Amino acid sequence: MTGAPTGLYIHVPFCDGKCRYCAFYSVRYEPVLARRWLAAVQREHELFRSHHPAPVFRTVYIGGGTPTILESGLLQELAEWVRSLLPSAGADEWSVEANPGSVDAGKLRILRQSGVNRISIGAQAFDDARLNILGRRHDAAAISTAVTAARAAGFDNVGLDLIAGGPGCGPKAWRHSLNQARALEPEHLSVYALTVEEGTALARSVQRRVTRVSEAAVTARLHEAQAVLEAAGYERYEISNYASPGRACRHNLACWRGERYLGLGPAAASHVGLARWTNAPDVRDYVERLEAGLEPERDRETLAPATKAVERLVFGLRLAEGVDLDAALEEGGSPEWRGLWTAALERFRRRGLTQQSGSRWRLTRKGMDFADTVAVELMP
Ligand code: SF4
Repeated sequence: MTGAPTGLYIHVPFCDGKCRYCAFYSVRYEPVLARRWLAAVQREHELFRSHHPAPVFRTVYIGGGTPTILESGLLQELAEWVRSLLPSAGADEWSVEANPGSVDAGKLRILRQSGVNRISIGAQAFDDARLNILGRRHDAAAISTAVTAARAAGFDNVGLDLIAGGPGCGPKAWRHSLNQARALEPEHLSVYALTVEEGTALARSVQRRVTRVSEAAVTARLHEAQAVLEAAGYERYEISNYASPGRACRHNLACWRGERYLGLGPAAASHVGLARWTNAPDVRDYVERLEAGLEPERDRETLAPATKAVERLVFGLRLAEGVDLDAALEEGGSPEWRGLWTAALERFRRRGLTQQSGSRWRLTRKGMDFADTVAVELMP
């Protein structure tokens, strides 16, 4: 594996408000700032290129924030510029995140015609009361409208995101969301557990004891999702991700498998060679620094090969395919780690959390509920 990035991620840091559970970096959309942001993203890429050979991107992921909040003209400019960075045959996979409240037929056509071949729609739930509780700014009908518009624009690879747990997500409401999502026949479904992230409106509400998020209920909803989606023919290829055969998200798979990626935009993370950096989550500072010809403010680290090996193991275990200990050790780490890892994984095997086939280990279904515990035990 070379150290050159094969994936490109672009963070669009704009939304039309803040969802109550969201800890991602985003600010309210401002057209003038968005235009400066795009110019800054292009400069950040130029600066990268002035120090590195041209990467061959096989996958692209434009996320946020809300990429589809950009006005059509700016979205087109972004998409055409990204297209110019790709090999002539395009990327193997080019995903864009879309929000039902801001996407429309025209924007979807622009994306499809530019070469985007996968749309990931933030549905989260299919009942208006719960969408309101989550602080979403769209209703359930807008999700179906977005999926229909994506199909009409020519997308044959559509993903939906759902959030499990929290207020308004009892068994009946959750079953309704799962059924509605399934009825739209997406190729991909991400099912995330609602987590209470520091600094969010949800966290403040939990602290004031106005809201309660029961971990047991979240786990029950996740189990229900697995049963319903697997019965419908989806494969759970990663702890939180299900896909029709052959439709797993290649960009995310590559990241979990330890491949390198370049991230552009405020709050975007990059992993190139053994270097890793994360841009500061401040779009104004990001824009001003790049307009002055400076790199964005960043947290940087140079990964020790041993750290890379542990990450390869821990991220690989998130996948249904599991991880090959030989491949993880090729990243670095000392030879005695094989024995230590094998002993720990063996202990989990006896508890029914892991299974082995040759040098490859994977989590069992039960093990997926305890992935964090397993990961902590495997850290040196
Ligand atoms: S739309 Fe997405 S990024 Fe924006 S606030 Fe909601 S969850 Fe966060």
